[in-house]
Amino acid sequence: MIYENAPAKINLTLDTLYKREDGYHEVEMIMTTVDLNDRLTLEKRRDKKIVLKVEHRYVPTDHRNLAYKAAKLMMDRYGIEQGVTITLDKAIPIAAGLAGGSSDAAATFRGMNRLFELGLSLEVLSELSAEIGSDIPFCIYGKTALCTGRGEKLKMLPKPPAAWVILAKPDISVSTADVYGALKVEDKEADIQTEQCVKALEAGDYQMLVENLGNTLEKVTTEMHPVIQSLKETMQKAGVDAALMSGSGPTVYGLASKERQAKSVVNALKGCCKEVYMVRLLG
Ligand code: ATP
Repeated sequence: MIYENAPAKINLTLDTLYKREDGYHEVEMIMTTVDLNDRLTLEKRRDKKIVLKVEHRYVPTDHRNLAYKAAKLMMDRYGIEQGVTITLDKAIPIAAGLAGGSSDAAATFRGMNRLFELGLSLEVLSELSAEIGSDIPFCIYGKTALCTGRGEKLKMLPKPPAAWVILAKPDISVSTADVYGALKVEDKEADIQTEQCVKALEAGDYQMLVENLGNTLEKVTTEMHPVIQSLKETMQKAGVDAALMSGSGPTVYGLASKERQAKSVVNALKGCCKEVYMVRLLG
């Protein structure tokens, strides 16, 4: 039996460059991990089945689950004859912009590699994982990276300076496809400072980092769900160093360099958001 951790990710930046002929948007984004983890256990079976156990009413346990897809792809591609039981303990909110499903899939790729002693490198797993999802290659490494293409091309970056992350997940679910579908050219007016953010990470400069966070999709999702703007304002008034929506939303995160500051942000969110987490930035 083996265990794998699947950390959530946040976007420090997310810039949509243009829509490609294959329907995907060409993106440029910096992603990093936070200490909010799903946990997976993988065990070999005597039969050839993939059995996924998840105690969560909104998470499918069949071929629709990204962890199931990852196990199936590994079995088919590497001729694995034995089945696997995967027990998935969810802590990351669903459809939240935190890549919970992608991180579970990445943990499954890493776990299958270990369980069946395939000896594949993270690079090989990362390339294979792009076949089932654009954010999974990043999650295979689970560190900090500049992600381009449709998100699957990675350049690893230095870990961000230590900080607290306050995650506020409003009581709505957002479909990534709907958000990209509603994205218009005008939404690109905001200048996303990915290059400045890369420089800030390279210099280990927290102040420069918090001044250059940005997400093109924030405007689109906020038009659908104005609560995102009010969560941001609540965080800003409570004194975060920066606040931004992660991915296609709806989770809003705030960064705080001091624990006391982070705790007062959590307090300010009480009463306006039921699902709030205070975690550390991992990278
Ligand atoms: P991203 O940030 O990559 O857009 P997300 O955090 O917004 O991802 P997920 O939580 O990964 O979204 O899930 C979106 C949908 O995918 C859910 O509604 C669920 O039905 C389905 N799904 C498939 N596999 C999983 C999984 N392992 N965990 C959670 N949801 C999953």
